[in-house]
Amino acid sequence: MSLSSTPDADLRILGIYPQAQNNRYMLRVKVPGGALSAVQARQLADLSEAFSRGVLHLTTRASLELHDLTRASLELVLQRLDAAGLTSRGACGGAVRGVAVSTPLAEAAPSARALARAVHTHFTGNSTFEGLPKKFKVGVDAGYPGARHLIQDLGLVLTSPPGEPARWDAWVAGGLGRQPTPAFPLAAGVATDRVLALAEAAVEVYRRHAPPGKRLKHVAEQLGRAQLAAEIHAEWQKRAPVPGTTVGEERGAAPGASAALLVPVFAGELPAAALRALADASDQVGAGRLLLTPDQDVALPLPREDRAEEVARRLLQAGLALSPTGPEVLRICPGSHQCKLGLAPTRDLARELIDGMGPKAAARGWAISGCPNSCSQPQLAEVGIVCAKRARGERAEREPRFDLWRRKGEGFGTRVLEGASRGELFAAVAELG
Ligand code: SF4
Repeated sequence: MSLSSTPDADLRILGIYPQAQNNRYMLRVKVPGGALSAVQARQLADLSEAFSRGVLHLTTRASLELHDLTRASLELVLQRLDAAGLTSRGACGGAVRGVAVSTPLAEAAPSARALARAVHTHFTGNSTFEGLPKKFKVGVDAGYPGARHLIQDLGLVLTSPPGEPARWDAWVAGGLGRQPTPAFPLAAGVATDRVLALAEAAVEVYRRHAPPGKRLKHVAEQLGRAQLAAEIHAEWQKRAPVPGTTVGEERGAAPGASAALLVPVFAGELPAAALRALADASDQVGAGRLLLTPDQDVALPLPREDRAEEVARRLLQAGLALSPTGPEVLRICPGSHQCKLGLAPTRDLARELIDGMGPKAAARGWAISGCPNSCSQPQLAEVGIVCAKRARGERAEREPRFDLWRRKGEGFGTRVLEGASRGELFAAVAELG
């Protein structure tokens, strides 16, 4: 396949998106459930150094992005990803996107990862389910903490106790963006071998009703939740179970949180050399795999807890700190640093805010997004900041204006400040105490 003359719009299904100003491209790699083998991690590090900017961006859906690719390099990068058993197919555009697991260190996370992989394998490159009106996001979680199921087109949450066959609650039609909309419950206690048929039904009904550019939450608004649920259930009943869908323990899967080291990565910006060091440490004394977390960090699973000290020593030698110097939860989208839609330089803003607050910042969980698309999920953070628009300021220049969100309960947070100038935002944040 030659990509030299392919229109930018047709590159999206390959997970490729034009960047802001520089005629370069972003390529998003799907990492189902965030699980990456050490071999794959090293290959990604090599690709980043050879063709990108030597830094990989970790997303809040545990995908990986290579930025600043030239058009001439795209074909070769895709070939090398394929050789590594990785794909970017459907990571952008109207397709079932990368399947996230937002509870990577939970005890039952291996079951969630196994289902995430099954969903990924079933839909990726499956022409029956491509060409959708917009993105279709699926999340699989080992429990309700974090409430990420609320922001998925289809959120699957494991509810059965350990030792019993896996059962899943299904939620649909959630999403953030300009109109944050929490998902609503569709079905409870779904057996694993019925999940893929349910996912097919939800995608089919979405395609049937959504106009171009709209997500499933729009269909829920137009039809009403009850009608949407009834149509998905009717479509589901017509479909046979998909054979071979199991969620037995993944081979080499990470054990519980006590046997994984969490490596903080500021703003999800992971130098290729650091990724290679993590892969090497994982191969030598870890479990041979890494887990990308939805908070844009990396977890290194260990086969035995007594390996932690040795791994920490090796990572330190490679210049990787294991204790966060800032907040434990700090999700930051690329903003205007790299994203075409970005209205504010999110990383700079984060550094200024956190440095200005000192230790008080570390006590909170943060998420900062450079536009209302809310890719860093600010509505699910203790403190969420969204650059909502640019407007004329005192110096007659168009300046970023921010919304501030606070979350205390189990659902979305509440917008407590709207359209604030930078100064007003900093003053409000300082008052958080
Ligand atoms: S929130 Fe906006 S600026 Fe940030 S990555 Fe998403 S689309 Fe880009």
